[in-house]
Amino acid sequence: MPEFRLYNTLSRTVQPFVPADGETVRFYSCGPTVYDPAHIGNFRTFLFNDLLRRALRLEGWNVAQVQNLTDVDDKIIRRAESTGKTIIEVTEPITEIFHKDRRYLRIEDAEEYPKATTHIPEMIALVETLLEKGVAYKAEDGSIYFAIDRFPGYGKLSRLDAREVKSGARVAQDDYTKENAQDFALWKAAKPEDEATGAAWDAPFGRGRPGWHLECSAMAMKYLGETLDIHCGGIDLVFPHHEDEIAQSEAATGQIFSRFWCHGEFLQIDGTKMSKRLGNITTVKDLRERGVSAAALRHFIYSTHYRKQMNLSGTGLEASLEAVRRVGEFAHRLETARGGTPELAVAAREGEQAFRTALREDLNAPEAVAALFTFLQKANAELDRKGGDASSLAEARRVFALMDSVLDVQPRAQRVVVGPDRVEPDPASLPDLEPPELEQVRWAVGRLRDRLAARAQRDFAASDAIRAEVEERGFVVKDTPGGTQLERWR
Ligand code: AMP
Ligand code: ZN
Repeated sequence: MPEFRLYNTLSRTVQPFVPADGETVRFYSCGPTVYDPAHIGNFRTFLFNDLLRRALRLEGWNVAQVQNLTDVDDKIIRRAESTGKTIIEVTEPITEIFHKDRRYLRIEDAEEYPKATTHIPEMIALVETLLEKGVAYKAEDGSIYFAIDRFPGYGKLSRLDAREVKSGARVAQDDYTKENAQDFALWKAAKPEDEATGAAWDAPFGRGRPGWHLECSAMAMKYLGETLDIHCGGIDLVFPHHEDEIAQSEAATGQIFSRFWCHGEFLQIDGTKMSKRLGNITTVKDLRERGVSAAALRHFIYSTHYRKQMNLSGTGLEASLEAVRRVGEFAHRLETARGGTPELAVAAREGEQAFRTALREDLNAPEAVAALFTFLQKANAELDRKGGDASSLAEARRVFALMDSVLDVQPRAQRVVVGPDRVEPDPASLPDLEPPELEQVRWAVGRLRDRLAARAQRDFAASDAIRAEVEERGFVVKDTPGGTQLERWR
């Protein structure tokens, strides 16, 4: 059996991976900073985490995944101050949106979603240990800093040149560049704006608040132990965030903090990184309003390897919408088929093999997607032959379910039947529709009623025009004996 291999940023090579205890993968993924809804770029990283989680389970391992929610940091405090709120008033509604968007994208629940503000004692304990070990010190401003020249491994993840390690120089903000590697803040002495926004806590070394990096070290070790199997994030987290996490954790415990470090590349838009700062973001809400299903977005993201940059494009999303429509039709066909041919079972087994091999080689999602579509094409051809073999059909169903358990790119259909005097079911009863989506369905139902009227008058040109107009908005229209069926894939 081929090994499961992953690229490890620490070694800059693709290495065989097994969990340290042979059973459960201790997996930490850096989560969102909850001051604005996460954008599709952030979700590219979270979808990469979701793929990894599902691929690890396909190998037969358990996964214990912890994803933090950063609910206190410089940006959140600034937002709270400028809007006259406390940090919790800023972060709570955004956290809710994060989970709603995440579920829409079918990102599986992690085992834990710890918040920084509910783990202050753990962070204080970690700072105390670092002070006792002499790798942290209190500066004149009352803040506690980590002394990077007292930790010999500093720079090993981001391959920082020893000359770039400036001892004594200090950086207070959470984010800075490699050229500015300096002693970083573990604990920031309370300022009036921290007090005003509820972002200050008592500690033996002075009232203040945690630095961003400290949050992840304390929470990762609380839930997963001193050594993790895999720590993930977007590529921008390599420095300083993950470098600083390693320094704090390893200086405190003397143990390797994480065996594997895995980083996903950026989602770009028109060739630049999608980011809140640049104002070029697309959110899940935007996509939903444009009728892009979760299945289509997943297909789109997984069509590029996680270590390659990719561009968000309308044509790409269109192609994914079309691709997942074929997956949906195939699923329906498999479900309703009566039997298969022996060749169907062969195609299924070959498909499974190609699929597993692709994922084992550094999570090659584009090849896994290709394996799904090759299988789909061969299986469709075999189903055309209308064989009667139950076991080969069962084999095809098993393999399709296996592939879909990882990629989850099968759209789910929602259907409404529109007759001259009835609409069934009531669009308002469709599950999980956002108000703008419900508006869209109501609009389409109204147009289909107009279409029925046009047809009653034998105005087929008008009827066709309405059909085109409705389909233009992402619906599928089918004429059935019971009325006109409006279909929406999500
Ligand atoms: P933040 O909410 O800024 O802490 O970011 C959450 C996660 O999204 C981090 O792992 C970032 O590395 C990642 N991220 C931010 N921007 C992008 C992007 N354009 N493409 C992919 N991942 C991103
Ligand atoms: Zn983190």
